Amino acid sequence: MHQIDSIYIDGHFVTPHGTELFDLHNPATGAVTGRVRLADEEDAHAAIAAAKRAFPAFSRTAKAERIALLHRMGDAVAARRDELLDAVIEEYGAPASRAGFMVDHPVNAFRETAALLADHPFVRRMGTAEVSMEPLGVAGLITPWNSNAGFICGKLATAIAAGCTAVIKPSEMSARQTQIVTEALHAAGLPPGLVNIVTGRGDRVGAAISSHADVAKISFTGSTATGKAILRAAADTLKRVTLELGGKSPTIILDDADLSRAIPLAVSAAFMNSGQACIAGTRLLAPRSRLAEIEALTKAAVEAVRTGDPRDPATTVGPMVSRTQWDRVQRYIRIGVGEGAILLAGGEGRPEGQGEFSGGWFVRPTLFTGVRNDMTIAREEIFGPVLSIIPYGDEEEAVAIANDTIYGLQAYVLAGDTARARRVADRIVAGRVLINSLAHDPKAPFGGFKQSGIGREYGSFGLDAFLEPKSLMGEGV
Ligand code: NAD
Repeated sequence: MHQIDSIYIDGHFVTPHGTELFDLHNPATGAVTGRVRLADEEDAHAAIAAAKRAFPAFSRTAKAERIALLHRMGDAVAARRDELLDAVIEEYGAPASRAGFMVDHPVNAFRETAALLADHPFVRRMGTAEVSMEPLGVAGLITPWNSNAGFICGKLATAIAAGCTAVIKPSEMSARQTQIVTEALHAAGLPPGLVNIVTGRGDRVGAAISSHADVAKISFTGSTATGKAILRAAADTLKRVTLELGGKSPTIILDDADLSRAIPLAVSAAFMNSGQACIAGTRLLAPRSRLAEIEALTKAAVEAVRTGDPRDPATTVGPMVSRTQWDRVQRYIRIGVGEGAILLAGGEGRPEGQGEFSGGWFVRPTLFTGVRNDMTIAREEIFGPVLSIIPYGDEEEAVAIANDTIYGLQAYVLAGDTARARRVADRIVAGRVLINSLAHDPKAPFGGFKQSGIGREYGSFGLDAFLEPKSLMGEGV
């Protein structure tokens, strides 16, 4: 049993003022694996005060100092890789194939941000003005459970590169990952108050950070509903807000696609991170002229997906993170059937033959066809391994369906003729469009159009989001 009963404020591990206890589970078995003592509003206020005290000195540090700090932080997290890998698998059920990325990503975030900072222009000449990019102040960083260590380190690296100090509110469900990352960052020798980490409930600690007058910036990743609550809470003090929210990404297969390549890619796009990914390609847009072929190949690919023991390298889909998440996915599968979608693979209930993992929160990888874009399963984010095939007539209709969503985070276009794919990609309203690829580039901005969010993370757009331009004009400039 892991007992986690400290938070990190002003360079010290301290016992939270909050007394609420929260159970940690292994989602692959359902067993309780630990207990965390949660912070409350008073802890959040202490953390914000510490970050506020640290800001004046830290905001004036030289670039070189911050670059060295980022490297130390990256190295310190890298030194805990094995423990972090174990935590990600046990606490979250990430299959080993995915978990490797999830523990390398936090380290890379520090190193990539250090490289970015080296070249980032903090002083820019615009007309007669000298524009200096100033750090915003105390940044509140709020993360979800679906890549907790990655989001902590990614957001923190950017805040630090900008010269901001931070109060982090990680997902309460990921306290083991948070503990390991916090210990690593402490070992890196940070100035007191630069980084404060308060694990607590969203509606208490998250809400306290989102509304506090001394917090200048919120960077949030999570659900669209919570993002809207944060935006409202932040309005009174006009905080700068970056929101990375949900998605309902389309994967458009054009009629000239090589299906032997396109289908595995489409299924990977849908089921990445066990389907618990904001960028999951959950709407598979298939040309009617090749529908039967696409249905047969996708069904075979979905039936071949291995679920079960996350430590087995052959497993590609692990359990849902919680019982609540499992129930939610079951409900959507029922709704899909109820609204007349045709079930081609999977369905309600748990997969068979799970042995010692039969108590885990596993979902049957599920494929629907005959889905219309106005059905609930095509409109709402399910956050599980459920893929819907939506037939279309021509390219025009494919683009219309792809864009007919409140979201706009990511899209995939799979085609033979890449020039044609490019023309379609140009018409998709999404923050990222990937052609015949599942690539990620940390230099490219990431974020959503419409209700997928506000602002961008990664690269120079992400760094500028922690800075405010200040123009100097007149004599001597
Ligand atoms: P969530 O919105 O339930 O929680 C995210 C974080 O917000 C948690 O730390 C939670 O405690 C906190 N929170 C909850 N209520 C709050 C409030 N009122 N004020 C402040 N903070 C509050 O999301 P989740 O279930 O943890 O994560 C899954 C969601 O995250 C999905 O919708 C997914 O699409 C989205 N997501 C988006 C991205 C992206 O980059 N766009 C990436 C990963 C996940």
